[in-house]
Amino acid sequence: MRALRLTAWGETPTLAEVERPAPHGAEVLVRVEATGLCHSDLHVIGAAPGNLPYRLPFTLGHEVAGRIETLGPDTDGVRVGDRVVLYGPWGCGACDRCATGRDNYCDRRDTLAWHGAGLGRDGGMAEYVLVPSARHLVPIGDLPADQAAPLSDAGLTSYHAVAGLRHALAEGATTVVIGVGGLGHLAVQILRATTAARVLAVDVREDALALADRSGAEFGTLVRADTAHVLRERSGGAGVDAVLDFVGTTQTLELAAGVLRPGGELAVVGSGGGHLTVSKPGVLPPGFRLSLPFWGTRPELAEVVALARSGAIHVETERFPLSAATEAIDRLRGGRVRGRAVLVP
Ligand code: NAD
Ligand code: ZN
Ligand code: ZN
Repeated sequence: MRALRLTAWGETPTLAEVERPAPHGAEVLVRVEATGLCHSDLHVIGAAPGNLPYRLPFTLGHEVAGRIETLGPDTDGVRVGDRVVLYGPWGCGACDRCATGRDNYCDRRDTLAWHGAGLGRDGGMAEYVLVPSARHLVPIGDLPADQAAPLSDAGLTSYHAVAGLRHALAEGATTVVIGVGGLGHLAVQILRATTAARVLAVDVREDALALADRSGAEFGTLVRADTAHVLRERSGGAGVDAVLDFVGTTQTLELAAGVLRPGGELAVVGSGGGHLTVSKPGVLPPGFRLSLPFWGTRPELAEVVALARSGAIHVETERFPLSAATEAIDRLRGGRVRGRAVLVP
């Protein structure tokens, strides 16, 4: 089968012919229908040698939807032909976090680092993907694959981040979403669908702000010298209740801290490598709370799928054949993807 293999750190992955895997034990083989391209894939591809605990080569792709092709002899609860989305953080399966569907916070972080789909383990930018256990599969019914695949990270991570903010989001609360790309445009929709909060959006691209508008944001602004001021004015003057930062550079972290009102909360999702200094006393608002949400839980993935099936959220996608993966990667790197790029084998 064809698979997009990362063979050297910092080098563009290449499409190669590899053996189609066969499921053993509790494993399940899924025929891939669509796989999302995440900005994290760019972070992984561009990582310096030794920075990530993954052994090369492996197949990329951690946002995967498809149809069950073959079952290992010890699987149960799923059938050949079922359409599914993959829950991507493959934890140890034995700790209390994994036992309650929170593999994303598996206690065996060393294990988790090795076990993510497309993150050290062969993922879904291929014709087939081998899943270690049926517990990582969530049914999608007749949801189109290009809608379902991005739910497993862009949707799930945004949903989990919003769920973590809920105490800051009372009726009339104002939120800011920084970075309206694959994750951010779904965060805007999830805020609108699951909270009563007002949503303001920030990006460096006009077309991303147009997407924010289509996704239900009340107002969008480009990053400029006076952005913090503009957002504060929009909030009514006191500042906003919560910020979701899908960029995570020093610039966006400082913008976020600068627009929060007392008691406000910042969720940093973007892996931009920025820094924010915590000091007391200091410039952070009193009562400031910070979270670093990572991916989401398996029950939350089922909830995100249900939201999408109800029509409450819709992924804006650009489709590419798997053979054009390099073009999709170049476009994402250049900030030229609207919503989520999805690869179709
Ligand atoms: P994306 O490229 O689709 O979207 C990023 C958006 O941010 C784009 O619209 C871009 O124009 C905008 N942007 C870039 N610089 C900006 C700036 N300085 N100010 C405002 N907007 C800016 O990326 P994505 O796939 O949505 O991923 C977003 C980030 O989240 C990445 O860093 C990714 O690695 C990270 N991520 C984290 C998790 C997690 O579990 N914490 C999961 C998935 C992705
Ligand atoms: Zn991702
Ligand atoms: Zn675990």
